[in-house]
Amino acid sequence: MQRIAWCAAALALAVAGCQSPAPKSTLGPPPPPVLSTRAPRVVEPIAPPPRAPEIVPPRAGRTVSPADIQVPGGIRRNNWKVIVVHHAASAKATPQGMDAYHRQRGWDGLGYHFVIGNGVNYPDGRLFVGPRWKGQRTGAHCKASAGRYFGTYCPNNYFNEHGIGICLIGDLDTEPPTARQLQTLESLIAVLIEEIGINPSRIYGHGEVTHKTACPGRHVNMPALRRSIAAAVAGPPTVYGGAATGTRY
Ligand SMILES: [Zn+2]
Repeated sequence: MQRIAWCAAALALAVAGCQSPAPKSTLGPPPPPVLSTRAPRVVEPIAPPPRAPEIVPPRAGRTVSPADIQVPGGIRRNNWKVIVVHHAASAKATPQGMDAYHRQRGWDGLGYHFVIGNGVNYPDGRLFVGPRWKGQRTGAHCKASAGRYFGTYCPNNYFNEHGIGICLIGDLDTEPPTARQLQTLESLIAVLIEEIGINPSRIYGHGEVTHKTACPGRHVNMPALRRSIAAAVAGPPTVYGGAATGTRY
């Protein structure tokens, strides 16, 4: 009985405590409320909507496929040993214009096997497959006399006879190649290496061979290009992003 009375008294006190008004201060406005020390409620992030089918970003795939470099009579796989990169030394060049210029110099047409556009007078990143490649003919792009090159003896005209000439349109001594040009260049070289079996280390800039020209220009980083292509040909299975290839002037 005594215990019940004690509990009732305690309950009455507690209720009275809850209901009693706060004592009025005579010292000015009341202090600011004490901020809660409890952690804020965690709001679950709203799940993103389902993604649309993935669009292959520009550098995820190759813009040149093996089909783009096939030729009617078949590729002379045993003939091609090196790849030589050039620039046109003009932003306004075109495959047709260079063909005319090379004929003026007495050559039998465009000296390169491939040309890649820069978007000025020939579409950006467009690969031009030249008649020399289609006919599997010796190039006219890298004259070098007989001698030792890269630790190997190369007979006269070796780099024209056994080198695949690729020309980037642009003056790449004064401006860099476009992203699409580089993508097409890397795609083309990777496909050539895989289709023909050229050693990935045998990719040279024109000036690296002859030491008589700045071609393909100081904005073309040949060591970086070789590293990128070596990684590409050693990488996972290839995704082809749709070729942009021209074969007519
Ligand atoms: Zn050159």
